[in-house]
Amino acid sequence: MFAVAIDGPAGAGKSTIARTAAAGLGFIYIDTGALYRTIGLACLNRNISFSYKENVISVLNQIKIELKFIDGEQRMFLDDADVSNEIRTENVSMSASVVSAIPEVRAFLLELQRGFAKTNDVIMDGRDIGTVVLPDADVKIFLTASPESRAKRRTIQLKEKGINGDYDTILADIIKRDNNDTNREIAPLKAADDAVTVDTTELTLEQSINAVISVIKEKMK
Ligand code: C5P
Repeated sequence: MFAVAIDGPAGAGKSTIARTAAAGLGFIYIDTGALYRTIGLACLNRNISFSYKENVISVLNQIKIELKFIDGEQRMFLDDADVSNEIRTENVSMSASVVSAIPEVRAFLLELQRGFAKTNDVIMDGRDIGTVVLPDADVKIFLTASPESRAKRRTIQLKEKGINGDYDTILADIIKRDNNDTNREIAPLKAADDAVTVDTTELTLEQSINAVISVIKEKMK
């Protein structure tokens, strides 16, 4: 099996780039952020207070989370309901970032993520794929861009999905999430020592995809 780990901050273009590269290479693409988002949504639905991690941990025992492929696309199911669209709001982004700092949440999702790489050629994206989930990945890429360019892209992306997002709020959320993700004690967002960094600030989407594919192809030789 061949495994590609792509890590980086919110809005660096990881999912679009990873999805396109996976399709080109015939690999499956796993968006691990969607798993944390689904747990964040389950907590929001229950109106629990996030200040107590015990509340979040108890939710883990009450829910069924499934990641399925339908027509080649990853879909997330929470208690048998397809929540793939619902997990894309800014509210869910922020709660995903909060729940993902809880060690029990990360442990809960670890084997599920590793399982996909055992039986498939994968491109997996997230924050800790190269450092924790797949430390032996064949290729590790750290995909990044300035907060401003990420906020601009996310605003456009949300608009395309029919969700209204205000640039300033999105930028503030991105900076806050970067802080949460980088400074948490467990599995913080950071480049693995053996990762290749690709900075997409000045790159178009097409250039970014080509940059990532060429890093992967180089390692496949
Ligand atoms: O990638 P995405 O923005 O959908 O991820 C949502 C949140 O889930 C991130 O802000 C991060 O806190 C968390 N996450 C994580 N580890 C991953 C993927 C996502 O902690 N591997």
